[in-house]
Amino acid sequence: LGCLWVVATPIGHRDDLSARAIETLRAVAVIAAEDTRHSRPLLLHHNIDTPLIALHEHNERDAVEAIVRRMQGGEAVALISDAGTPLISDPGFRLVRAARAAGIRCIPVPGACAAIAALSVAGLPSDRFVFEGFLPPKAAARRSRLQELAGDARTLIFYESSHRVAESLADMRDVFGAGREAVLARELTKLFETVLGEPLGLLAARVTADPDQQRGECVILVAGRGEEADAKLAEGRRVFAILREELP
Ligand code: SAM
Repeated sequence: LGCLWVVATPIGHRDDLSARAIETLRAVAVIAAEDTRHSRPLLLHHNIDTPLIALHEHNERDAVEAIVRRMQGGEAVALISDAGTPLISDPGFRLVRAARAAGIRCIPVPGACAAIAALSVAGLPSDRFVFEGFLPPKAAARRSRLQELAGDARTLIFYESSHRVAESLADMRDVFGAGREAVLARELTKLFETVLGEPLGLLAARVTADPDQQRGECVILVAGRGEEADAKLAEGRRVFAILREELP
């Protein structure tokens, strides 16, 4: 029986491809890629000339069957997406599920993921978080999803497209409150990488006023409910402790 290697690729910087990922992508019989034209330059840069086949949203059902058959015939297959970790707001779920159902071993080759990269530099609580992926594009559905999340105490992580980022931040401000701490992580690992942390009111206003902040790819992170209150409490306690030391 063959196996399925699920390989993370860079989210921007092309050298964020691990040595093991390169070795794996060179060794497999075929690479299933979301967009073969998009992935070829990255693979060529790393001297990988393994044949590519397409596996995207629109052909996933049919492609899965053919790929599973190849693995049942003994071939090793790698799955990659356009950027980051496959299956994370990207195709691959059906393939992994079908492979596992067929008793085929699925092996992760971990690497970049925009949500985790953003969380690692946001400075928001990272012990508990929830990945929400993309919000619904329509305003009413987006707001009702946000409302469902308003009471969650965990850090919220969203993917958003650049042309909706201002709108989404404004909705978040309205639903979560202008004082809720948030971070916009844009163009991570790329030339114009920016990580802006501000209360939602200020962040929404800044992004609306500055078209440069509405370019490229971005992750929005929002502190869970109560975090601001907890932070103020902790700061109060810290100041009190200092004062107590100083007072006669
Ligand atoms: N599979 C990918 C991963 O592991 O992160 C995510 C793919 S999803 C189709 C693309 C979204 O991820 C973008 O709209 C953006 O929200 C986020 N993203 C991808 N690359 C990014 C980057 N370099 N900086 C910030 N966000 C990024």
